[in-house]
Amino acid sequence: MTEFDLSRRQLIKRASVGAALLSTGAGRQVWAATPKRKLGVALVGLGYYSRDLLAPALQLTEHCELRGIVTGSPEKIPVWQEKYGIKDANVYHYGNMHRLANNPDIDVIYIVVPTGLHMKYSVIAANAGKHVWCEKPMAMSVQECQTIIDACRKNKVKLSVGYRMQHEPNTQTIMQYAQSRPYGALQTIDAVAAYAGNGLPADNWRMQADMGGGALYDMGVYAINGARYAAGLEPVAVTATRDFSHPKFEEVDNTTRLTLEFPEGIIANCRTSVVESGNRLRVNCADGWYRLAPMQSYNGVQGETSDGKKLDKFIANQQAAQMDNDAQAILNGTAVKVPGEEGMRDIAIVRAAIESDKKGERIVL
Ligand code: NDP
Repeated sequence: MTEFDLSRRQLIKRASVGAALLSTGAGRQVWAATPKRKLGVALVGLGYYSRDLLAPALQLTEHCELRGIVTGSPEKIPVWQEKYGIKDANVYHYGNMHRLANNPDIDVIYIVVPTGLHMKYSVIAANAGKHVWCEKPMAMSVQECQTIIDACRKNKVKLSVGYRMQHEPNTQTIMQYAQSRPYGALQTIDAVAAYAGNGLPADNWRMQADMGGGALYDMGVYAINGARYAAGLEPVAVTATRDFSHPKFEEVDNTTRLTLEFPEGIIANCRTSVVESGNRLRVNCADGWYRLAPMQSYNGVQGETSDGKKLDKFIANQQAAQMDNDAQAILNGTAVKVPGEEGMRDIAIVRAAIESDKKGERIVL
């Protein structure tokens, strides 16, 4: 069959999978491969994570391109435009970012502002008709998470939460073990996500409760999410104690300890802190154990099992893998790895932990 024998329907189908029918000067028509379509990403909030991790990672992605920025800091604009070749037309501030609706260069809006603002800007992004990537922790409350989910559903756009660990291959092995149970019944889980900081000035959002500051929101979701994916189950109760004893921490917790009770009698002991270090996930089973240490660093997540297996698959860049996976879900119309519901489950546990600490009680989820 020659190209000219193809039916119109076949031609349309073929064109849609990345080939184009071109006319040559000689009047002949030939098939030529067109470059794969990359999704245009706009970063909202050009702070540490956007500047040091996401923007560099976007340069390594196969399916994404950094094309837009939304910032409240005019002095950052020329620096970013020069470094990443961002067009004037793709530069926005928070007050006009709804106009991204009219910008065909941008497919995805990635929300990287303080946690207390995730809902506000995720909803604006969804209402602009763009796919939404929202950083962790997803939002301040279950209600806020639900509002983001509803806005994305209403606008028929995809929503992914920036849980990079779930895109990391050794973490994925732990997630598979939760299903296949190679070391028998799960018994206890030890999940620690912490760093030894010394507090920040009071005007930094990480020290402010209404912005999502403190250990439990900022780092605690790694331990909670880790316990959940290590168990492969949802907890049924939480008991927590929050520690505000560090001299700089009045409004937000410097450390929180949580016990999560899962079905089958599995208990997860979680600790999170921004003043003491710790970075591990260990699962003790009836017939052995396995662990990741570190469990949530940007590089070098690795582990081992009680029978000497190394969990040491290499990944060049977690954020690039995350964004490429999320982009492929959009391009192929498939489910995202980390949907809004996943972020919302952790926020339900965060809120229950706060309630548990306040009341001094075990909270049934
Ligand atoms: P930063 O404080 O470094 O940056 C936040 C940026 O948000 C600011 O630079 C600013 O950008 C913008 N912003 C808008 N409104 C405000 C406001 N009222 N107060 C402060 N900043 C504001 O924070 P990070 O980049 O470290 O964190 C941003 C988000 O990313 C958080 O949700 C955090 O949890 C998440 N994160 C995720 C990580 C991961 O590994 N997945 C790692 C680190 C952070 P501009 O000046 O451009 O307006």
